[in-house]
Amino acid sequence: MQSPLKTTQTIYLGEEKVWIDIYERVGADITLLNLHDNENTAVEAGLVFIEKYGGRLIELRHGRGREVVVRVDGVLQRFDPNRMFSDVGLRKSLEYFQNYNDEVFSIAAAFRDSVLNLFAIHEESVVIAIHNNTPGKLSINDFRAGEWYGEDTRKVFINPHQDPDNFYVVAQHSLYGALAERGYNVALRAQNSPDRGMLMDYCVYLGALNITVETEHGKRVEQEEMLDVLWEILKEIGLDNPIK
Ligand SMILES: [Zn+2]
Repeated sequence: MQSPLKTTQTIYLGEEKVWIDIYERVGADITLLNLHDNENTAVEAGLVFIEKYGGRLIELRHGRGREVVVRVDGVLQRFDPNRMFSDVGLRKSLEYFQNYNDEVFSIAAAFRDSVLNLFAIHEESVVIAIHNNTPGKLSINDFRAGEWYGEDTRKVFINPHQDPDNFYVVAQHSLYGALAERGYNVALRAQNSPDRGMLMDYCVYLGALNITVETEHGKRVEQEEMLDVLWEILKEIGLDNPIK
C-alpha cells in the first residue's frame, strides 16, 4: 500500500508553536481532522483510513495536551480548539479556563483564521472529526434530553450492547438513520443548537458535511471499524463525493 505524503506547517500562538501535520493520499475526497493533541488513537485509526481509501488527515500537534495554549511573555493561557470556530465559542472557552483578555483573544482568533485557511473547508467538503474520550467523561448518554448536550440534540440512538464511549454525532437525518439501523450509538445534532464554536457549527454554517467519530482512548480497532462503516454509508447514500 502506498503511504500518505506528509507535510507540516507551523502556526504561532504568541510565543507558542503549533505544528499542523497534513497526511494526503489520492482517493477519497474527504478530510479527517484531529483537533485534540492527546487523542492519538484517533490519529492512528485515521491514518489507517487514509492508507485504505485515500483522503487527507490533519493533526494539530503541540505537546500541551487536549487544549491549545497561547503563550505571551512566558504565560500560558489555554482554550479548546474545538470551541474556536466562532468568536462567541472562543471567548467562552478562554473564559472557562479563566484565560480571557483582549490580547489573548486576538492571538487565538488569528490562529483560528490561519488554521481555517489551511483546512480550506468549503461547501462541498466532507469533514470527519476524530476524537477519543475517557470512560466516565463524555459519552453518548450526555446527548440525552436534560444532559450536557441535550439541547444540541434532536434525536439520540443508544444501543445498550455498545460501549457508550463509542459514538457518532451527525447533522443529517439520512446518516443518523443508517448508523442507528446498524446498531451504532449516534446523536443527531439539533438545527438550532447553541453556538459553542465547534467545528460542527462551522461546517453547518458553510453547508459542508461534518461527522464526529468518537471512541474511548486506545480503542483503535473500534474506531477503524466505525470509520469503515461511515465510509460505506457515505458511498451508499451518495455523500462520499457531493461534487459529482
Ligand atoms: Zn476531542
